[in-house]
Amino acid sequence: MSKEVYEAISPADFFYRNREIAGFDNPVRATYTIIRELVENSLDACETHGISPTVYVNLIEGERQGVYRIRVEDNGCGVPKEYIPSAFGQILFGSKYVLRQTRGMFGLGGKMAILYGQITTHGSVKVISSTGGPVKYQCDLMIDIQHNKPILMRGGIKSLPNPVYWRGTIIEFDFEGDYSRAKSKILDYFKQTAIILPYANLAFISPEGIYYRFIRVTDDLPNIPKEILPHPKGVDVELVKRLIKRTRAEGMLEFVTYNFHRVGRNTAYDLLNFAKIDPKKDPRDLTSDDIVKLVNAMKRYDGFLPPDASCLSPIGPKLLVKGIEKELKPEVVYAVQRKPTSYSGHPFIVEAAVAYGGGVQPPKPGEVNLYRYANKIPLLYDAASDVSLKVIKSIKWNRYKIDLEMPIAFFVHIVSTKIPYKTVGKEFIADIPEIAYEIEWAFKTCARKLKSYLTGKARKIAIERRLGILEKYLPKIAQFSSELAGRNNSINVERLLAKVKR
Ligand code: ADP
Ligand code: MG
Repeated sequence: MSKEVYEAISPADFFYRNREIAGFDNPVRATYTIIRELVENSLDACETHGISPTVYVNLIEGERQGVYRIRVEDNGCGVPKEYIPSAFGQILFGSKYVLRQTRGMFGLGGKMAILYGQITTHGSVKVISSTGGPVKYQCDLMIDIQHNKPILMRGGIKSLPNPVYWRGTIIEFDFEGDYSRAKSKILDYFKQTAIILPYANLAFISPEGIYYRFIRVTDDLPNIPKEILPHPKGVDVELVKRLIKRTRAEGMLEFVTYNFHRVGRNTAYDLLNFAKIDPKKDPRDLTSDDIVKLVNAMKRYDGFLPPDASCLSPIGPKLLVKGIEKELKPEVVYAVQRKPTSYSGHPFIVEAAVAYGGGVQPPKPGEVNLYRYANKIPLLYDAASDVSLKVIKSIKWNRYKIDLEMPIAFFVHIVSTKIPYKTVGKEFIADIPEIAYEIEWAFKTCARKLKSYLTGKARKIAIERRLGILEKYLPKIAQFSSELAGRNNSINVERLLAKVKR
C-alpha cells in the first residue's frame, strides 16, 4: 500500500483550486466577475463614507489575443498605506467583517480577480491609492498563493506627491478573458447598476473603444450603514465564546447588556432568568454547558425587539423610481419599501417596484422582466432559482388586472447584513419564508397601484372615445334639431362639449 501524503493548504490555495465557487469558472464568466468585483469594491469604498461614487472602468485588449488589461479608478475612501498589501494580496483580509451592509463580505472578491489575473498571465497588480492627504501610494504586488501573503515587487510601496489631494483607488492588471462573449452580461451589469444607483457616475470604455456613460441624476445618497452588535437571535456558541474572551464585564448582566443588539438591562435580567443563569456570575466562569444553555435560551426567548435597521442602507422608493425612470423611461413606475424585519436574527428590508409601458418592453414568451438586486448588486445569473421569481409566479396577477405578457418590469431589492445567497458566487437568493413574504407584499402593493392606474387609463380612453363620437355628431344633431324646430342654429355646441370634457 502506498503512503498517504498529508498537507495543509492556505486559503489562497483553496480558492485557487476552487475558483469556480467565487464565479471564476471560465474566461467569459471571469471577465464579468472581475469587473463586478472591482466595481463593487469601489462602490463600497464610496458609500460607506457618504461619497457620491464616480467609477471609471477601462478594459483594453492586449497584444496577445484574449489577454486584457483592466483598470478601475474610483473616488472612494482610499486604503491606508499599511493595509494596501494585505487588502489586495491576502485572501480573506478586509474591512467588511463587521455587521453593516456592504457588497463585499468575505474579504475575497477583489483578490480573486487579482489572483485570476496572476494565474492566467503571471503578471502583477498595480495599486495606487490615497486617503486624500498630500501623498499617494503606489505598488506592484503579487499573491504568494501557497502562503496566502502579498509579495511586494520592485521596491515596495512608493510615496508619490499628491498636490491635488486626490482621494481614491486605482487598480490595474492583466488577465485572460473573453470580452466578446461576456459583453452582453457586462453591459447589463452596468445598466442595472445605474438603475439602483441613480446617484453614481459610472463610465466604461470597452475593448472596442466604445464609451458607455451612466450619469448621476441626483445628489441624494442613501443613509450610511452603521455598525451594530450581533442580535441574540442570530448568535451561536462560537460567537459567545469569542465575546467572553474579549469582554471586560464582571457579571453576566453586564455582559449580555453590552455585547448584544437590542438587549437592555430589563431584557437581560429576564433572559438570564429564563436561561437559569445567575446575573452576577462572572462570564469567564461559564462552563461549555452554560454557554450552550445561554445560546439555546436566546433562540427560544421571545422578548427581544427585532434588530433595528440602522446598519442597513436601502435606497428608498424615491431613488428607486429615479433610477428606473432614468434608465428605462417607463410610462409609470410604482415603488415601495417594506418595514425592516429579520430572519434568524439578521435584519433585512425589501424594496420593490413595478414599471409599466413606455420604454419597458413585453417579456419574451414565458419569461418575466425581473431585475433582482441584493445590497445594491444586480444579480444577473440563475434567475430561475431565485426566491423572487418563485414569488412572482405564485401571485394571482389577474386580480390586479395584470397579465405577465404585458410590458411590465419587476424590480426587487433586498438589503441585509447577511444576504442568504445560495452560493459564494452571489447570484441567487435562497427561499427564506420571511423574505418571500416581504417580496410578495411589496409586489402586491405596487400591483395595486398599477391596477388603479390601468383602470383609470382604460376609463379615460373610454371617455375620450365617447367624447370623440360626441364631437363628431353633436354639431350635426344640433343643426338638424334646429332646422326641425325651424330655428337658426342657436345651440352653442362648443360650450357644451367643453363642459362635458371638464
Ligand atoms: P471584500 O470586498 O469582500 O472585503 P475584497 O478582496 O474585494 O474583499 O477587498 C478587500 C478589502 O480591500 C476591502 O474590505 C476593503 O477594505 C479594501 N478595498 C478593496 N478595494 C477597495 C477600493 N477600491 N477602495 C478602498 N478600499 C478597497
Ligand atoms: Mg470586494
